[in-house]
Amino acid sequence: MWTTNAQYADWMFCLVRTDPKAKKQEGISFLLIDMRSPGVTVRPVHTMEGGAEVNQCFFEDVKVPVENLIGQENRGWDCAKFLLGNERTGASRVGSTRERLKHLRKLAMSEMKAGKPIIQDPSFRARLLSLEVEAKAHEITTMRVLDADARKDRGDAPNPLSSLLKLRASEIRQELTHLYVEVAGPHAMRLALEAEDELEAFTPDWAGLATATYLNNRKVTIYGGTSEVQHNILAKAVLGL
Ligand SMILES: Cc1cc2nc3c(=O)[nH]c(=O)nc-3n(C[C@H](O)[C@H](O)[C@H](O)COP(=O)(O)OP(=O)(O)OC[C@H]3O[C@@H](n4cnc5c(N)ncnc54)[C@H](O)[C@@H]3O)c2cc1C
Repeated sequence: MWTTNAQYADWMFCLVRTDPKAKKQEGISFLLIDMRSPGVTVRPVHTMEGGAEVNQCFFEDVKVPVENLIGQENRGWDCAKFLLGNERTGASRVGSTRERLKHLRKLAMSEMKAGKPIIQDPSFRARLLSLEVEAKAHEITTMRVLDADARKDRGDAPNPLSSLLKLRASEIRQELTHLYVEVAGPHAMRLALEAEDELEAFTPDWAGLATATYLNNRKVTIYGGTSEVQHNILAKAVLGL
């Protein structure tokens, strides 16, 4: 379930249970599966903003050659932890957040609410400023984590602080997309009224995308491990609770 871009994939790295009796994270192996193998079916999942980027994948009696095993049999979770660490650090998205915040601030200075630029609305301004400060703090934290990784302070072991980066980055991203909807105001309705050509003509592209982007970004606190799971990892591996 939820396999991103499987519709385009020739190959899939897949974690499969190879020892049903082993404890939860043991007995899993990491396989490279040819998506053209008999028994593989990919069905699209249509998401609420109208996207089709995720899929359900079914594997019925699929045969995988033994040479497609990555690493050791039943030790797939070691590969998964390493890859998840990279995915979570990658989710930091420092550059795009910085650019979008700049864009949002610019829009808030020109878009009007009750006859004044939205930036002059005290509650909006407080939210924007708070987000800018959070994003800056997140950027500095990301650099610290990357610096420690580059110096290999922990050898090749996955860095549990990648969970902190993923957690904060997804919260920042969701607030950012929410503020875009606020700035778009009535234009943000375009998604629901797509058929109304007349309305579309008055809607700038960024505003037309605001609702779709907001809805699509509900996923970021789920994929790559949910926020609750990141909290658990941080409590255990970083705070030692
Ligand atoms: C848009 C999208 C794209 C995705 N793309 C991919 C992909 O390309 N490849 C891939 O492999 N996966 C992908 N995923 C799957 C994603 O990694 C999982 O959905 C995610 O890790 C959550 O697992 P789950 O869906 O099994 O939820 P569950 O684990 O069933 O969680 C359900 C709820 O229970 C909570 N919960 C679960 N365990 C605990 C716990 N121990 N303590 C506290 N709370 C807990 C969760 O936080 C959540 O709220 C994608 C998911 C989404 C939504």
